[in-house]
Amino acid sequence: MSQPHHDRTPFVAACPDCDVERGAESPNEIVEFYRRHYRHTGHDVVLRRADLDVELEDADAGAATDVAAVVAALEPRYESGVPIGIVAAATGRRGATVGETLERIHEVRMTGALYEPRDDHLAAF
Ligand SMILES: [Zn+2]
Repeated sequence: MSQPHHDRTPFVAACPDCDVERGAESPNEIVEFYRRHYRHTGHDVVLRRADLDVELEDADAGAATDVAAVVAALEPRYESGVPIGIVAAATGRRGATVGETLERIHEVRMTGALYEPRDDHLAAF
């Protein structure tokens, strides 16, 4: 029973620098963990586990941080935007860190290709 509270959480993020893991019930909790951890330590965070109730095959093609393509592929499954933690899970499967994904989301939002219909949820124009 070394990591009891991680056994059933659908999402697990980790900081490779600290060897710290954090389980979460919702994908955006992973993003909040990243923001806190980055603020305190400057470290990036990777997703170790993401049990999603949607298939991500549609989003698995393309560059690691092509967040616009991920949002476009997943958007039909969400009513008011794709949670950014889900986007991070999809890009994480291709090797991107949470920090890299959030940075890319910021860049793409500046181009106007993505917007936030509500906090921490993304939709494509
Ligand atoms: Zn760390």
